[in-house]
Amino acid sequence: MDRTFLMIKPDGVQRGLIGEVIARLEAKGLKMAAGKFEMLPEERVMKHYAEHAEKPFFPGLKSYIMSGPCFLMVFEGKDVVAVTRKMIGSTNPAEAEPGTIRGDLAMEIGMNVIHGSDSNETAKREIGIHFRPEEIISYERADEKYLYE
Ligand code: UDP
Repeated sequence: MDRTFLMIKPDGVQRGLIGEVIARLEAKGLKMAAGKFEMLPEERVMKHYAEHAEKPFFPGLKSYIMSGPCFLMVFEGKDVVAVTRKMIGSTNPAEAEPGTIRGDLAMEIGMNVIHGSDSNETAKREIGIHFRPEEIISYERADEKYLYE
């Protein structure tokens, strides 16, 4: 089964949106395989956002992401990376379609509620940064036979 890394960012946590976001993912048929609530240490923020380290918005992004606890998850499902990127919506919430998490729940790019891996390679890398293998649980969800043909 495909896997992705998802993270409810500090604004999502502070605004009480953890349950709303997880409810959408669960209702879709995606399966949580790991989850933890924590303050991200600087070392993992630098690894996670390495590709943005030189960008002008990076200092703001870094202080925002470390400003409070995040809820980190691994989700599984068929084509989960593409499916969750679609459910999350465009990076800028002002441009995100209604029906998407960012389109429905956020206003500005600097506080866009959730992170989701953008490819299978990125997912593998990000899961490896944030989770130890033993934190990820493989199990069958009871409704799987009604989700997959
Ligand atoms: N970001 C920002 N300003 C920008 C571009 C990005 O604050 O001009 C932040 C925003 O939180 C975004 C994150 O940096 O979610 C990572 O950017 P990326 O382009 O990878 O977008 P994403 O994959 O999260 O949609």
